[in-house]
Amino acid sequence: MDTPSDFNFLNQSVAEKHNPYQEGEYLVIKTYPREKYLRCVHRSFDYHTARNKRDLENLAHDYSSFGLRIFHQGKLYQVIDNGKPGKISKQQDWKIHPDYRDAHYDQNAEGEIIVCDCSYPYFSALVSYSSLRDDPIVESQPVTCLVDDNGRETDNCPNCGSQLVDDDVEEDYEDEDCVPVACEGCSNYHGQVYNGSLLVCAIHPHGSDSESCPDFTK
Ligand SMILES: [Zn+2]
Repeated sequence: MDTPSDFNFLNQSVAEKHNPYQEGEYLVIKTYPREKYLRCVHRSFDYHTARNKRDLENLAHDYSSFGLRIFHQGKLYQVIDNGKPGKISKQQDWKIHPDYRDAHYDQNAEGEIIVCDCSYPYFSALVSYSSLRDDPIVESQPVTCLVDDNGRETDNCPNCGSQLVDDDVEEDYEDEDCVPVACEGCSNYHGQVYNGSLLVCAIHPHGSDSESCPDFTK
């Protein structure tokens, strides 16, 4: 028996949200700002209709941009002038695994879903490991979170290759000029930044006060 909600599917705009994309279908998608899920604002099998919709959406919105894609072999492709698939699109209809989606919305879970500039979503998990004397060190570790590829630690975006861990600040401190005199050549020297503060070494987290260190180890 049909339920009242079944009748909603007779309404094209409602049904479109539920039906999977089909081969050769044109999608007008939001390309900026990026969201965790693909925002498709128009679906059509007609190239010219879809292109007009994209142009209208771009005219109507000052702070968002929209792009045209074609669904081909299960993925989104750029559309070339004759309406045929061109290069594969950076932006895809990524399916986030429910466990990671739940963790993202769980206030107590240590981690969140972050979207790469290319549109690829990943889970930034907070991991802590203990140092010798100080509080545990907490760092974020990017983990893949897609339904068909999840739980894999990755430092680079699997989609565009860009680096996901921002360690520019740490690199500055690794510069030899920044190594304190007492620590030069010491095998205990660590010199990494965590949450904005420099961990000089596990024995003297803030470094030695003088130019020599009692715990210097070659
Ligand atoms: Zn990326």
